[in-house]
Amino acid sequence: MKILDGKKTAKIKESELLKRVKSFKKAPQLAIILVGEREDSKTYVKQKIKTAGRLGIQTHLFSFEEKMKQEGLIEVIEELNSRKDIDGIIVQMPLPAHLNARTVLDAISPEKDVDGLTTLNQGKILTGDVTAFIPATARGIISLLTLNGISLLGKRVVVLGRSLLVGRPVALLAERYGATVIQCHSKTKKLEELTRLADILIVAIGKPKFITTKYVKKGQVVVDVGITIQIKPKSRASSLLGNEGQKVLVGDVDFEKVSKIVKAISPVPGGVGPMTVISLLENVCDARGITNKS
Ligand code: NAP
Repeated sequence: MKILDGKKTAKIKESELLKRVKSFKKAPQLAIILVGEREDSKTYVKQKIKTAGRLGIQTHLFSFEEKMKQEGLIEVIEELNSRKDIDGIIVQMPLPAHLNARTVLDAISPEKDVDGLTTLNQGKILTGDVTAFIPATARGIISLLTLNGISLLGKRVVVLGRSLLVGRPVALLAERYGATVIQCHSKTKKLEELTRLADILIVAIGKPKFITTKYVKKGQVVVDVGITIQIKPKSRASSLLGNEGQKVLVGDVDFEKVSKIVKAISPVPGGVGPMTVISLLENVCDARGITNKS
């Protein structure tokens, strides 16, 4: 069984990107907008800033209180759209419930939409327009497979999930790479019959350890996209000392059991996560190229 190690694979991409960044006259610049105090969002933003720093990509973090008004947020985005020094803009999702994510995202100028989430960009992905920005997780999954010698050409790919962020773009991309794709969602019946047909099974549903041995068979490649933060129960002694339980990241696949059957599998953490961060930064370099400011 082969582990699809996202940390190692992201390092390969990182060395490629380092060369690319050095070839630019000026460092690419990424604006990150964070609204609210969600701990998971703050962690993801920190990871992006840290990796960007290693690559020489400059980040500008704009943090706002939970109660930030939509008009204010859109004004900020419009200002960033007009700034010549900014190559890419991302709005960390999810946004607080009072904000309309679609309206906010669509305020981002298409040539700076490095998360690939604007309506225009999603349409470009659907029509196969090569100037589309591929949402980072989808791009990361494809890189994780191809850089580990797993071709999609002629393969049967089963995708669990159909979100605009992951499921939909990865299904479209896999098809573009020559795979035949079956896309499943919460209303899919007899799921295990479909997942067992896959050469490559991509799981992005946000249900911890949902994929058990009955969903897989020998010889398959499994990519686990899911991330759920759980609190590991503390020991009695630790609890008496008043320590909080430890936070752990859990994937959608029961790694321990499924890894004994399949040919290759990505772990959580250390699988798709690092590939997502590096792919976002790859998109930022692409944005620099598109705006021809190198
Ligand atoms: P999402 O918007 O909540 O979408 C979940 C999708 O899963 C939906 O399409 C839903 O179907 C489908 N689904 C739910 N239960 C299902 C079931 N029992 N069987 C089949 N399909 C089912 O989530 P998301 O944004 O795509 O994210 C999915 C997971 O990936 C989350 O855990 C998230 O944290 C993680 N994630 C990880 C990374 C990373 O870098 N590793 C990046 C992004 C997201 P319906 O459409 O019918 O509701």
